[in-house]
Amino acid sequence: MKALKQLFPLLFVGALTAIPLPTRAEINKVETVAPDVFFHEGDLAAKGHCNNGWIIFEDYVLVIDGNFPSGAQEIIPKIRTMTNKPIRFAFDTHHHGDHAYGNQVWVENGATPVAHTGVIDEMKKYETGYYGNKPGRWEEATKDRKDVAGSKLKPPTLLFRKDMIFDDGKHRVELLHFGVAHTHGDGFAWLPKEKILFTGDACVNGPFNYMGDGDSGQWVKTLEAAKKLGANIVCPGHGPMGGASVLDDQIAFFIELRKEVKKYAKKRPEEVNAAVEKIKATLQQNKQIARYVGTFFTAQVEKVYVEMGGKPFQSAAARLEQHRHHAHNHGHELAPDAVPAQMRTGRRTNRPVAN
Ligand SMILES: [Zn+2]
Repeated sequence: MKALKQLFPLLFVGALTAIPLPTRAEINKVETVAPDVFFHEGDLAAKGHCNNGWIIFEDYVLVIDGNFPSGAQEIIPKIRTMTNKPIRFAFDTHHHGDHAYGNQVWVENGATPVAHTGVIDEMKKYETGYYGNKPGRWEEATKDRKDVAGSKLKPPTLLFRKDMIFDDGKHRVELLHFGVAHTHGDGFAWLPKEKILFTGDACVNGPFNYMGDGDSGQWVKTLEAAKKLGANIVCPGHGPMGGASVLDDQIAFFIELRKEVKKYAKKRPEEVNAAVEKIKATLQQNKQIARYVGTFFTAQVEKVYVEMGGKPFQSAAARLEQHRHHAHNHGHELAPDAVPAQMRTGRRTNRPVAN
């Protein structure tokens, strides 16, 4: 051990100190957030899975996020060990594959997929194959995910514009939409009695912000509206759950990112491209947000620059690679260095994505 430490001192220091996480729960393990309220951090690095939540009501179970088909198949038996009540609703926090492609699995298990109307609008935009046009994201995902290839796209069929409330007197869950953030159809699940907020990918806890389908300026406003709810516990779309500070940190990341990119808003694309590492270093120095800075960073800078009126600077090949990695199911097949080692330690298996 001592010899190992001498050989690889940084490895040991890094493993202990690099990521200041509010809580470090184990991936793929059910956590009780409150009585009848559960959180499950999905295996993002190996399987592209999102986080799930579920609430056991008097007569039924409401699940938060459809996950990928393989994610849904992992979650259902875990719910079944707790209750025989029917799983009646699966709430897609947004349209991305890792949150909605498992819908068909939930339907086969008796549940109805629920979402904000914007999820359908987004699916019409990106799931062109399903809607009778050229192959879209689902077809793209079938190429490297057996679970997707073995299922079918099932858009949500129970929709809400502003909110939808589940309340049996004991438990209350409000599905809410506050505007554009990670996508144009982000929904939150708010438990006012327990002050627990499930955010989907509008708020994550780690370097997982895929920004391609959203808008960073509106994202901040949406998160600030969500913050007014006064959550004590935040269950993010990816990464471990934490306290209210997770929401603050996510907001701070976007504010700081926008502030730094704004300095280059009038510069030429190649100048911005050349400044990416400098911007990255600046944000990494900020302890509150350092854990949000990861391998998506160049794309994030480009996205904000384009939002501020600039032209894209990444090569077409780089953008294609970005799309391949996470446009249709961000998180899936992340390069190993995209997820800090600490976030992978809870992983129990290292099986291929489709299982
Ligand atoms: Zn996601």
